[in-house]
Amino acid sequence: MAKRDYYEILGVAKSANDDEIKSAYRKLALKYHPDRNKGNAEAEEKFKEATEAYEVLRDSKKRAQYDQFGHEGVGNFDGFGKGAYRDFSDIFGDFDFGDIFEGFFGSGFSSRGKRQKRGSDLQYDLAVELEEAATGKEIQIEIPRHEPCTSCEGTGAASGSKPITCPVCNGAGQIRQAQGFFSVTQTCYKCHGQGKIISSPCKSCNGTGLIAKKRKITIKIPAGVESGSRLKITGEGEHAQGGGIPGDLYVLIHVKKHKYFERSGNDLVCTVDISFPLAVIGGDIEVPTIYNQTLKMKIPQGTENNQIFRLRGSGMPYIGSHGKGDLLVRINVTVPKKITARQKELLKEFADISGESLKGEMRQFY
Ligand SMILES: [Zn+2]
Ligand SMILES: [Zn+2]
Repeated sequence: MAKRDYYEILGVAKSANDDEIKSAYRKLALKYHPDRNKGNAEAEEKFKEATEAYEVLRDSKKRAQYDQFGHEGVGNFDGFGKGAYRDFSDIFGDFDFGDIFEGFFGSGFSSRGKRQKRGSDLQYDLAVELEEAATGKEIQIEIPRHEPCTSCEGTGAASGSKPITCPVCNGAGQIRQAQGFFSVTQTCYKCHGQGKIISSPCKSCNGTGLIAKKRKITIKIPAGVESGSRLKITGEGEHAQGGGIPGDLYVLIHVKKHKYFERSGNDLVCTVDISFPLAVIGGDIEVPTIYNQTLKMKIPQGTENNQIFRLRGSGMPYIGSHGKGDLLVRINVTVPKKITARQKELLKEFADISGESLKGEMRQFY
C-alpha cells in the first residue's frame, strides 16, 4: 500500500511552521493515543502514522529531505546502523496526557485517578543482515537506561532514613489552582512532582532513586521484517523517578544492503552470469538463494541477455503469514574478452554457416 503524505496525515499545509506541526500532532496524538483507545487497532495505526510523520517533520533536516525526495529521502536509515541510541523523551516525555486533560476539563476527568508517573520511551536502532530478515532471528541487544537503585530500593533515601510526605502538596505531587472556569494543575514546586521529600539522600543514586544500567534484552526479529519496521517492547523503556510505570522500548529495524540480492517488496532480485554458448544452446545452472541453499534452474535454448526468470516462493517471507515472494533471476550473458585462434576459427565458421557477416554492417530495417 502506498504510504500517505506526512503533511496530509497531520492535516497541515506544506508551508506549516513548527508550532503548527506540533499542535496538529498533539491533537491527533490525543485522539488516537493507545491509552485512550484500548484494543482499537485502527486508532493505534493512526497514532503510529501520525507519530512517524511528526518525527520527520519536526526535524528540519529530515523535513528538507522529505520535501525533496519524499518517503525515499527519509526511509534510508544508514545514518544509524550501528545500534545508535536515542532518547525519545522529547516526543513523549513532556507529553503528559493527564496534564492536558486536567487543564481542559478540571479534575476528575483523568481516568487514571491518581496519576502514575511514566518513564520515557526509548528508541534503539538495530541493523540486521538480509539473511536474518529472511529467516527471523533472536538478537540480544544492550540498552543503556535508568533502573531503580538497589541500595535504597528506588526511594532515593539513605538507609536508615525515609522520604517524608511533601507538606506543600500532601504527597500529590501537584498543586491545583482555580483560574476562572478552569482549575489549573501544576507540578509541586517543593517536591518537583515526587510527592516526597528526601532529607538524607542515598549515596549510590544521589537521591534520584535511579541508577544508570545496561540492560540486555533479547529481541525476536520476525521473518520478513523490512527496513523501517518498529518493534514495540512494552515496559522496557526508562523507569520513572519515584516508582510508577516504565516507558516502552521501540526497536527500529534497518536491513543492511546485500551484496548479491536486492529486495523488491517480498521478491528478491539477483543477477546470474552465463556464457554465451550456454545462452545459445541452453542447459541447467544452479542459483543461490538467501536461505543458504542452491536451486536448479533451466536456461532455455536462445536465452536473451537481461531476460528474467521467476523462481516462485524463494523470496522473502510475508511477515506474520504464510508464503514467500519470488526470486527473480536476471541473466547476464558474458562475452569473453580474449579468445584463442582456434576459438576464433570456430566462431568464424559459425558465422559462415549462419550466413552472418562479420563486417559489422547495419542490419536492414526496411
Ligand atoms: Zn539509591
Ligand atoms: Zn510537593
